[in-house]
Order: sequence, then C-alpha cells, then structure tokens
Amino acid sequence: MRGMEGKAHAENVSGRFYVNKNCLNHGLCKVLAPQNFTQSSDQTHIYVSKQPETSEELAAVIDAASQCPVNAIIDTEAFSVAGDVSTTSSDMKRHLIRLLLLALVVVVWLLASS
Ligand code: SF4
Repeated sequence: MRGMEGKAHAENVSGRFYVNKNCLNHGLCKVLAPQNFTQSSDQTHIYVSKQPETSEELAAVIDAASQCPVNAIIDTEAFSVAGDVSTTSSDMKRHLIRLLLLALVVVVWLLASS
C-alpha cells in the first residue's frame, strides 16, 4: 500500500499517517503538530510518533501534511478518497452511455416517423 507514496521511515507508528523518506528534516510539521511528530534520534528526519487522537490533533496533522513542501506526510485515507473519484468517473461513464442510448432512440424514432 505504501509503495506508491514513497518508502516510510521505520519509526512511524502504524496508523493513518506516516512520513516517507522524502522528508527534508526542517521540522515545520513538528512545529504545527508537536504532539504527533518527532525528530529521529540520528536527527536526519521526522516521523509520526503518535497518530492523532483528538479532532485538534487531526486538524494539526492534516494542516502539517498540506504544508509539507515535499508531500512527505502521507495520509492513507486521502488515497481512499482518490478511489471515490474513480467511482465518480464510473458514474459519469454510465450517464454518458444512457445519453447515447437516448440519442439512438431519438434517431430511430425520427427515421421511423419519416
Ligand atoms: S514538513 Fe515535511 S519535509 Fe518538513 S520536516 Fe515535516 S515531513 Fe519533513
């Protein structure tokens, strides 16, 4: 699941969010959500040390993810939303097919009545 979004740092606690290896270690996320992000012991990167447990923490982590300049904070539920978009695309295809069938019926009706 995580292969497409970049390799995760091993220290991330499991859950919805993780930091991948694109992290630049400048610490913006740690400032925005100090309860949830921690700097690695070798001081080379940041990782998710605690998944958000309150609405305030969730908002802070989502804000940090949106402000990360290299998109290193991955929200696995955001990728689920992408799946919903393809469902919407599928709905559009169904509507298009119905529209084409309706146009075909109209053409047949016009030919039959002339
Ligand atoms: S904001 Fe992004 S790049 Fe910066 S430290 Fe956090 S995860 Fe790393």
